[in-house]
Amino acid sequence: MPGPVLVAVDEDADLLGAVEAELLDRYARDYTVICESSAEGALATLYKLQADGAEVALVLAGQWLSGMTGAEVLGRVHNVHPHAKRGLLISWGGWGDPATGEAIFDAMAHGRIDYYVLRPSGSPDEVFHQAVSSFLLEWSQAQRVAPHTIHVVGESWSGRAYELRDVLERCAIPHAFCLADSPKGQGLLEKLDGEHKLPLIILPTGAVLSDPSDSELAAAAGAGVDPQHGEYDVVIVGAGPAGLSAAVYGASEGFDTLVVDEGGIGGQATSSSLIRNYLGFPRGVSGGRLAEQAYEQAWVLGAKFALMQSVVGLERRDGLIRVRLSEHGEVGARAVIFATGASYRRIGVPELEELNGAGVFYGGPASEAHGLAGLEVYVVGGANSAGQAALHLARFARQVTLVVRAQSLGAGMSHYLTRQVESAQNVEVRLGTEVVGGGDDGEGWLRHLVLRDASGQEERVRAEGLFLMIGARPRTEWLPPEVARDSRGYLLTGPDLGDDSGWPLDRSPYLLETSMPGLFAAGDARHGAIKRVASAVGEGSIAIQLVHRLVAENRLHPASAQAAAPQG
Ligand SMILES: Cc1cc2nc3c(=O)[nH]c(=O)nc-3n(C[C@H](O)[C@H](O)[C@H](O)COP(=O)(O)OP(=O)(O)OC[C@H]3O[C@@H](n4cnc5c(N)ncnc54)[C@H](O)[C@@H]3O)c2cc1C
Repeated sequence: MPGPVLVAVDEDADLLGAVEAELLDRYARDYTVICESSAEGALATLYKLQADGAEVALVLAGQWLSGMTGAEVLGRVHNVHPHAKRGLLISWGGWGDPATGEAIFDAMAHGRIDYYVLRPSGSPDEVFHQAVSSFLLEWSQAQRVAPHTIHVVGESWSGRAYELRDVLERCAIPHAFCLADSPKGQGLLEKLDGEHKLPLIILPTGAVLSDPSDSELAAAAGAGVDPQHGEYDVVIVGAGPAGLSAAVYGASEGFDTLVVDEGGIGGQATSSSLIRNYLGFPRGVSGGRLAEQAYEQAWVLGAKFALMQSVVGLERRDGLIRVRLSEHGEVGARAVIFATGASYRRIGVPELEELNGAGVFYGGPASEAHGLAGLEVYVVGGANSAGQAALHLARFARQVTLVVRAQSLGAGMSHYLTRQVESAQNVEVRLGTEVVGGGDDGEGWLRHLVLRDASGQEERVRAEGLFLMIGARPRTEWLPPEVARDSRGYLLTGPDLGDDSGWPLDRSPYLLETSMPGLFAAGDARHGAIKRVASAVGEGSIAIQLVHRLVAENRLHPASAQAAAPQG
């Protein structure tokens, strides 16, 4: 069968005919279009396609079918085609129909559909095609069949190959991994001239990097510039949502802006497979995609990026804040926005730490989920991120178990997620339970876990994937003592700075200003932060406004009263 398959089902022949005509007109060259006039027919087709090994990219279903609703049909799609996107077809008039609205809400809340699609109303209908092409883009990115994919070829899933995949993931650079002795790996290696040391990176241009350093990889993949000892109006430390937002606003307001990140772009958000609560994305957005778009936005506005290098020191000298970089010396800044977020707590079980990357993962399952198809997977954590990870994994794994130390799921998770987790067929929740051991049974990949319940009873369970989402801490220990922090290391700002914070000026600190004048904190690294993408983004933009105010009022810090207006 040529190309992946698009399936549509509707009982009304005219409506189905209109959908078929639009799909054939735009997608027939690359996809096979199959239309069915009943729920049973559509399900039989989907099972047959699975048996034939065909890939289904998208299923569209009208809601009002006899015997079974469209949402119910779509709810079964992932049993046989776990990667397919699922759109509920509704008529333009459906907007005003409470029953249709309820059907959409219910199907979304229970994860039966990815979104709704307005039926074509005449041809060409760009609204319909925008919905379809968005689905296909998401599908191709998740399947790693989008063009310009970087290939990582390694000897094993763990070790350096895993670290390189992680670098690419954190830079939101699409990539695919394969083992060197797999048919795909052998195929790629056969096309190369000469011997190459593994792990290998094969770029879309055909260029090959043998076991590159992180910064070589970032530079070769197009992410990052060398900041060269320059001076900037604003240096932003961290390219998570807070830092990217500050970069967009800083660059757009004419500040000469540099963003430094020890990893890539997106911070923690890149480990979120679907952010459902970020304004303006009604069908949700993956953290990686959001980061990619924000990075592009900041870049076209003129922000500079230095990725894969850490900021290792900060001091106020000669009217500027001096920012020391791990690989490229020092840059000066009139103001610094500290947006370094937070990082995960470790589980503290040595045998599991050894399997990091080989079945054990800190953070969300964005890049690993489809490698775990049909397997037993565990997620540890009781917050929203753990719930989202469990639901995402449930689309691929045979069974997902959410291990929660608390005695109730509602203690740390939003109500909408609790409902989704509890109603997911292949997600089990084990409350009052901890992971206390595990191992690879000599196979180099996680094979079992040891769980301990509240009574101290231990149980050995089979497990091929473990995702740890057990809280975070800021990594601020390297900051100079004059930057005041709370007992857990989060930066104190504005009104939270007490009398003993060492604030040196007559004026009061601004809202997000730390005890070092001109150094602002935004996002998760800040004491009292909400720890959400939207709040980090909001704080990034507020920090820029505060920098503006300081520059305008010439009140950056004592030694720079003569600071000029920002260069633009
Ligand atoms: C799996 C998961 C799912 C989530 N889901 C949601 C959701 O659905 N909705 C929602 O609103 N929020 C969600 N969150 C929370 C959200 O991602 C965070 O609140 C947000 O990313 C915080 O942004 P930030 O910019 O403050 O920090 P981060 O995202 O943590 O970014 C900090 C950046 O700073 C860099 N850095 C740190 N130290 C240094 C240094 N010394 N030098 C250079 N760079 C440094 C790091 O590499 C990192 O890139 C989720 C989080 C996770 C982990």
